[in-house]
Amino acid sequence: MSRPADILPSTARRFGDRVALVTDDARFTYRELENLSARVAGALAERGAQPGTVVSIFSPNRWEWLVAYHGALRAGCVVNPINGMLTAEEVGYVLNDCGARFVFTTADKVEAVRDVATPIVFGEANVVDGALSFQDLLDHDAEAPVFVPAAVTELCVIAYTSGTTGHPKGAMQSHRAIHLNHAYTATMHVRVKEDVLVTALPMPHVYGNCAVHATWLAGGTAVVMDRFDAARALELIEQHRATIFEGVPAMFSMMLAHEGIASRDLSSITRCTVGGQTMPVAKIDEWEQRSGAPLLEVWGMTELAGFGTTHSLFAPNVHGSIGIAFPGTEIRVSDPDEPDRRLAPGEAGELMIRGPLVMLGYFGNEQATREAIDGDGWMRTGDVAYATDDGHYFVVDRRKDLIITGGYNVYPAEIERVVAAHPAVAMVAVGGVPDAVKGELARACVVLRPGHTVTGQEIIEYCRGHLAPYKLPRIVLFVDDLPKTSSGKIMRRELLKLWPAA
Ligand code: ATP
Ligand code: MG
Repeated sequence: MSRPADILPSTARRFGDRVALVTDDARFTYRELENLSARVAGALAERGAQPGTVVSIFSPNRWEWLVAYHGALRAGCVVNPINGMLTAEEVGYVLNDCGARFVFTTADKVEAVRDVATPIVFGEANVVDGALSFQDLLDHDAEAPVFVPAAVTELCVIAYTSGTTGHPKGAMQSHRAIHLNHAYTATMHVRVKEDVLVTALPMPHVYGNCAVHATWLAGGTAVVMDRFDAARALELIEQHRATIFEGVPAMFSMMLAHEGIASRDLSSITRCTVGGQTMPVAKIDEWEQRSGAPLLEVWGMTELAGFGTTHSLFAPNVHGSIGIAFPGTEIRVSDPDEPDRRLAPGEAGELMIRGPLVMLGYFGNEQATREAIDGDGWMRTGDVAYATDDGHYFVVDRRKDLIITGGYNVYPAEIERVVAAHPAVAMVAVGGVPDAVKGELARACVVLRPGHTVTGQEIIEYCRGHLAPYKLPRIVLFVDDLPKTSSGKIMRRELLKLWPAA
């Protein structure tokens, strides 16, 4: 097996009666899921989809999402998962950009897509004019076999990046890259058939996709939430005796700040993973204490179809490190201004990756591809990191988020790690604000834990014990919530738009 389209058939053969998927309104065994997706594949082919036809999925998490995904893959289509939070204009751009012919979606989104691609609507049958009904596809009476591409290096999925730093870009992922991500994740985190995953990560995002499919490779159960809610996540962990929760840092911070956490039984957890953004070590410690199990960091990118580094469950969990290189993945740290120059352990530079996980390129954007991947196959990640002698990597921050204040370079993540350790702080995001004298000043936007109070000056004083004077946040702004992407990542670039500097 070497393609994501093989997962359901293969696991259904071994564990057909085990529960594969649980959502708020449904529960399916492997055999049921494989049968439904085989029908969807047959129905798509009957309606004109061919190997290579681009099929988009634009919807929040729901069981139909995963059936549509596997149906389209099985038919040999190229799948384009779209972030469910995009506006009509943005989704129109993506559908046009990748040349989608069909788009699986929900009734409320049909207007946004029908001019570009044929909608296939999840939910009630035949409710929308000019759209196909997903139920009709499920009712199709013939199961299609799994299409076999000429090579596993062919295009399988066009996945758009999170758009944390700008316009999302369509990363072209091969069958092999996606499959290896699932397989290596299952190996590094030791997935077994008794595993019960709870996650609210969106399925279009590589992290959510990998969480579910690594679990499915082993025959475990995935409990997929339609959106994150701290109280509900804690309840589901207890109710399903979850062994693993996977999410972005903000999700763990919100669960830790939730007053209900004390009364929840989290003892079934054997390990969790966190990634997508830096998780302050203080919060990692706190979650490990609460859950009594390791919280393993993962580092990844859409351009890698998933992860590039993580910790093995059997090695000591080095907090603050993103782990070691994935099997088969070469990593180096380079001088950002001279990428051919490798830096020594301990020196911070740009993280570069080479290997079978690296994307084929950005769809329809040769220039961006050339800027990202050099002639030898090394991909620039845009992340600043350093290595240790024993092969652990530490992310400093994204290059683009650097704050230059009074001539000094300051990475927001460094300040966030310190502020997050303050006992009154639930979440924090740091961004630069323009300043006539220093160019920029670091401003910390802080969400407090319920029932806690603290002044901005107290936060700054607290930082003084941990940070050099030039790195101190100069302004502390208390806010009710922080802007996030659909995958739950905090969007630093929105901070200044939401709260312009005085
Ligand atoms: P865009 O490229 O559109 O701005 P994005 O980079 O957030 O969005 P993704 O592909 O979802 O889109 O995220 C990859 C990035 O997430 C990495 O380049 C890195 O900056 C960040 N990241 C992922 N995991 C970690 C981690 N464990 N620690 C720190 N940063 C991480
Ligand atoms: Mg990126």
